[in-house]
Amino acid sequence: MIHGGAGSFRKFSPEEKNKFLSAIDRILGDGRDCLAGGASAIEAVALCVGALEDDVLFNAGRGSVLNENKQVEMDAAIMNGATLEAGAVAGVQGIKNPVSLALMVSQKSEHVMFVGEGAMRLAERYGVAQMPDEYFLSEALLAQLERAIEAGKMTLDHDGVDQGDDKLGTVGAVAWDCQGDLAAATSTGGMVNKRQGRVGDSPLIGAGCYADNESCGVSTTGYGEDFIRTVLAKTIADFIEMKGLDASTAAQYGIDYLTRKVKGRGGFIMIDRTGACASQFTTPCLLRGWVEKGGQPMSCF
Ligand code: ASP
Repeated sequence: MIHGGAGSFRKFSPEEKNKFLSAIDRILGDGRDCLAGGASAIEAVALCVGALEDDVLFNAGRGSVLNENKQVEMDAAIMNGATLEAGAVAGVQGIKNPVSLALMVSQKSEHVMFVGEGAMRLAERYGVAQMPDEYFLSEALLAQLERAIEAGKMTLDHDGVDQGDDKLGTVGAVAWDCQGDLAAATSTGGMVNKRQGRVGDSPLIGAGCYADNESCGVSTTGYGEDFIRTVLAKTIADFIEMKGLDASTAAQYGIDYLTRKVKGRGGFIMIDRTGACASQFTTPCLLRGWVEKGGQPMSCF
């Protein structure tokens, strides 16, 4: 399963919506082929999130939204459900694929999370690709920031101030491979007009991303503060592990919990330990897609 963010899409034309759905289908197809070729779940989620980061349609990597100082500060996390190895980076700049850096953290360092300058040094040490400012900045992103500043708001990328006139959001992937192993990854530029140094839920293991073969893999999107307060990804995993729920029941419990506790705004995708997919959201839409048992990609808002 992959997602391209939660929010409102009311003002998107049918052509624009098709662009997003085609991108989701294409990337899902690549993820399916990679799993069919024997790749692991962790390889599949890194591949899919990397491709989403490279696509300017999405608020991650190249298409990351801007903070209050017109800067890109990206967050990403990845987790292996077979081993509980996890890696995360927060507030990184100039990194082409933050998910690749998060993967390096999980596989090569003895730590789980790096922020800012230390994370950037690690990128150099591990040879993770870096890009100049021009790669990230665009007129559309600057205009989006101006609208948010004028309205005095911090917004979801795809909510925009004019509700739905901006491109889509944060990205994530969850995979279940031929060995029955689960993995999850999430990557984002965060919220439009966020304060410099603000970190959302996406790189926080248990809030924006979680995977454990004994329960499920989860990737979330939405107002990060709501997901941090409810530790939502891990809460959903706990519903499965402790109550023995299936994916769709756990997803319902998860969204009810998010709503009841904090009136949370956003959604998530998940795959449980039997390979069943589910998703839920409280926003008008969640752009998502899935492939079950090697079939055709399905995608919707
Ligand atoms: N959850 C992300 C954050 O708060 C934003 C998003 O999902 O669009 O940084």
